[in-house]
Amino acid sequence: MEITYIGHSGFLVETEQALLLFDYYQGEIPPLADTKPLYVFASHRHGDHFNPQVFELAKEHPEICFVFSRDIWRSRVPEEVQDKLASLKPRQQWQDGRLQVTTLKSTDEGVAFLVETEGMTIYHAGDLNDWRWEGEPEGWNRQMQENYRKNLEVLRGRRIDAAFVPLDPRQEKDYCLGMDYFLETACPRKVFPMHCWEDYGIIDRWFAEHPDSPFRDCVVKIGGRGERFMVEAEA
Ligand SMILES: [Zn+2]
Repeated sequence: MEITYIGHSGFLVETEQALLLFDYYQGEIPPLADTKPLYVFASHRHGDHFNPQVFELAKEHPEICFVFSRDIWRSRVPEEVQDKLASLKPRQQWQDGRLQVTTLKSTDEGVAFLVETEGMTIYHAGDLNDWRWEGEPEGWNRQMQENYRKNLEVLRGRRIDAAFVPLDPRQEKDYCLGMDYFLETACPRKVFPMHCWEDYGIIDRWFAEHPDSPFRDCVVKIGGRGERFMVEAEA
């Protein structure tokens, strides 16, 4: 599959048979092969994960399906695409014959997506992360961590071909708590740090601070918008 980084938590994944657009909110969407069906995922309604502009895509791309977290109210979805909407709750499964989607409950709002298609597995965390904040009461931070770890349990030992996971510089010294736990818990082949607020130096920082990590080959260095990456199916 080919992966294009669009910006923030936005990625386009192109497989042999489909196009998967995750959490688009701004930036340039690459040309979309009109022979392939397009799936538009939105993990929750926050402005940096969901932009109603995505509905415009239905005009050029009639074979489209919107896979949204249920916190994006149906009333926000235009009448003409209501029949192309899958509105998912946390911990739900949905499939259409091409894709199988399992949702995880976010520790922020909405869901994370685990998508299986063509023998490959893709994970997009949305805002599911260990949101420890310096200054929050210790009890709050402890509860956060507990919830994060519990919600991720479904990924334990799970082979994931491409994963998109927050690495947020605003968390300062705790920036990699969530990603590190994800790396140890799931079994990902490639992990794309996201939600970096365009501060890609945070990825370099992770490499500098993890000189002996067994996951160094698995974490992808994103340097800017529009970059493309290939992830081949496992032989
Ligand atoms: Zn966010």
